[in-house]
Parts: sequence; structure tokens; C-alpha cells
Amino acid sequence: MAGKEGAKPRLLRYLKEHAGESIPYDALKAVAGDVGDWTRTLRSLRDDGYILDYDSSERCYYFPYVEPQNEPKDNRHINNKLRAMVLLRDNSTCRMCGRSVSEDGIRVHIDHIIPHSWGGKTELENLQVLCSECNEGKKNFVKGEDPELMKSVSRAKSAKERLRLYFERYRDTPLCTDRLSVIAKSREWTRALRYLREDYSMDIEYVPRSKRKGIEKEYYIYHTK
Ligand SMILES: [Zn+2]
Repeated sequence: MAGKEGAKPRLLRYLKEHAGESIPYDALKAVAGDVGDWTRTLRSLRDDGYILDYDSSERCYYFPYVEPQNEPKDNRHINNKLRAMVLLRDNSTCRMCGRSVSEDGIRVHIDHIIPHSWGGKTELENLQVLCSECNEGKKNFVKGEDPELMKSVSRAKSAKERLRLYFERYRDTPLCTDRLSVIAKSREWTRALRYLREDYSMDIEYVPRSKRKGIEKEYYIYHTK
């Protein structure tokens, strides 16, 4: 037994001492000691950003760097303290429809503004209160989008750039305004659209609602053909 030290710090210390070497599976398992699922501890180290490779033919681990090389993996779980902070800040009021717990008796959800699957962080700035209905609507919206595209859209620095990535993906496709305003994440998103036309000479047409033509929702379309 290695005293009170947990398996994780024990493994990390051993890996650091043997960085750059081949570390046999059995040697590492022995260091982990008598813990049930010791490879879970290795996963947790990887989640912290450490690089740990495994060569299954040699049955060896390889730990090339002493310090974490990747961003620690963000956990989507919202703890009680964070939850309370969001509720307090938003006054237990849905940030989309404005209904509140005290006046309208809504059920509240804590929502990731930029969804976790799109790279949004679990931190106060990226969390908001939503009621059940708005939360459901947002979930459907999120489900309809490609997470890989949305990761790059979320990383983009400006509304213009976010819209550009989105239009490039959906060329010659009608894109309704409520969707575009969410993608742009800016009240000034129509201005961003204007810059897009000017700076990139993108042929983006605005198509207004029209009963006569049977167009129920106004939309924009990026013509490339
Ligand atoms: Zn709502």
C-alpha cells in the first residue's frame, strides 16, 4: 500500500519520473495499486490535458510530456453553486421569453448559451436561465445543426465571420432570419451581413415575407450558381 496518496497523484508522479520512456502496462498497473478500474484514472489524466499514448502491440504506455499539452476537458455538469449564481443573476427569469418563476410559475433550466457540444464552456458567462418551453425549442434548434460546423462557428471572433462560415456551408439554401440572428449572436447582425456583402462580394439576397408568393418566413439566400 502506498499510504493515503490517491491512485491519481501516484500515477502522475510515476509517469513524470518516466516521461519519454516506454512504460509496460503491468508496471503502471502495479503503481495504480489495488483500485478497481484503474484505467479510469488514466482517462481522468487525459481529461486534464496530459498526453498518454498506449501501444497495444508492445503493451506499453508512453508519456511524452511532463506538463499538460491540451486544454483540460470541460465538464458539462453544472454544480449547485454555479446553478445558484445563474438563477440569482437572471432573477429566475427565462432569458428568451421573459417569464419568471414567481409570476408565471415556470420550471427553469440552466442552459449552455453556446451548447457544450459546440465547445461552449460551463462557466457563468455561458449559462442562462430558460423555461421548459424555450429550452425545448432551443434543443431542437441545436439538434438540427452539425456540431463540427458549429464548433468552428462558435470559435469565430466576429458576427461577420460566424455568418460567413454558415453561409459558405449552406450555399443556395434559404436561411431564415431567426436562425441567422442566433448564429451571429449579435443584435447588429444585419450590419454584419452588409459587411459580408461588401468585403467578400458575397451575393446574399434578402427575400421578404409575401402572402402572394406563399413565403411565410423572411429569409436570406447566398447565391453561388
Ligand atoms: Zn421561456
